[in-house]
Amino acid sequence: MKYTTDKLGFYGNYGGSFIPELLHRNVAELQKNYLKIIETKDFQTEFQNLLRDYVGRPSPLYPAKRLSQKYGAKIYLKREDLNHTGAHKINNTIGQILLAKRMGKTRIIAETGAGQHGVATATVAALTGLQCVIYMGEKDMARQTPNVARMRMLGAEVRPATSGSKTLKDATNEAIRDWINNPDDTFYIIGSVVGPHPYPDMVARFQSVISEEMQMQLAAQTGREYPDKIIACIGGGSNAAGAYYYFLDNEKVELISVEAGGLGIDSGHSAATGVLGSNGVIHGSMTLLMQDKDGQIVEPYSISAGLDYPGIGPLHAHLIKTGRTRLVTATDQQALAAGLQLTRLEGIIPALESAHALAALDMLNFKPDEIVVVNLSGRGDKDMDTYLNNLSL
Ligand SMILES: *Cc1c(COP(=O)(O)O)cnc(C)c1O
Repeated sequence: MKYTTDKLGFYGNYGGSFIPELLHRNVAELQKNYLKIIETKDFQTEFQNLLRDYVGRPSPLYPAKRLSQKYGAKIYLKREDLNHTGAHKINNTIGQILLAKRMGKTRIIAETGAGQHGVATATVAALTGLQCVIYMGEKDMARQTPNVARMRMLGAEVRPATSGSKTLKDATNEAIRDWINNPDDTFYIIGSVVGPHPYPDMVARFQSVISEEMQMQLAAQTGREYPDKIIACIGGGSNAAGAYYYFLDNEKVELISVEAGGLGIDSGHSAATGVLGSNGVIHGSMTLLMQDKDGQIVEPYSISAGLDYPGIGPLHAHLIKTGRTRLVTATDQQALAAGLQLTRLEGIIPALESAHALAALDMLNFKPDEIVVVNLSGRGDKDMDTYLNNLSL
């Protein structure tokens, strides 16, 4: 496979493990154990059973008839929005917490920006009875009160990060500090295909259930187990990595990655890391990131909280630089319009992140009968205020 990591966690030039010495012990323990554990039958049985009975998998592959008519292609939606907790993130947090238990860990930490990964982590901590601390920027806590309430109800302690910009990167710093201080009993659950090796590879494996199911569902519904195109939005890149995984080496499948263009690529207010980013180290891996000429991280912006991240997973940096994926950007306005369109054509209100993937349909040309899968990463309930404030309904 051309698109898997080498032993040190590199996808071509990207990835690896660029961490402070104080973290070495924790990360090395994880590197040494993760494959050994997740490839056991015992682990796979428990993981698959929870995906089925708790998450509700397989998620449907829905042939979207009216959307297909509009674009003149056969468009299918992979319905990650129907998962328990409303998005794909739970696939990964279940995988990581089962690994944590098998490594003898009793305490879970995570950082969260908008709160979606915090909720997915607090959910699986409740499910397994492990102690859970979520770090969240003080400013984000004030902006995302419903998710803070959910995490607390689930039994997690939400600790505010009060330094710097009081947002995601400050929460990340706090979580890393906690992990350094608690190496024996604590497992750090990262929410996307980012971070030092082995996180990008591990998270991609847990999310790969998305494309594994797609193969079987496409075979049953179309007679062929691969599509012509797969479209997915990219924040850190975990839903896209899962949707692409089993098709990476099949060059007949065109992969389309959609980034958040915010107010426009040239506006200075976007999160289009693949387009605007340059090589650098963020959260422990070499990847593309948005930085100024002094190497300081540029604050990202998107109307969608889940895409508002200044880096991108190293797998995606590699896919972009090798030309394996085609990059597209969708602005706030294009995503809002695409979200409304799906709602009116199919009766499905998508997450604003997923609405970015849908917006790409307007930017592509399709041959008749072409099979296109859009990964519908999450549902729109959490975004109702934003939709209502920005659309004249
Ligand atoms: C968090 C989130 C994303 C972005 O994260 P990835 O790691 O890029 O998948 C996309 N969609 C939804 C619904 C999310 O909650």
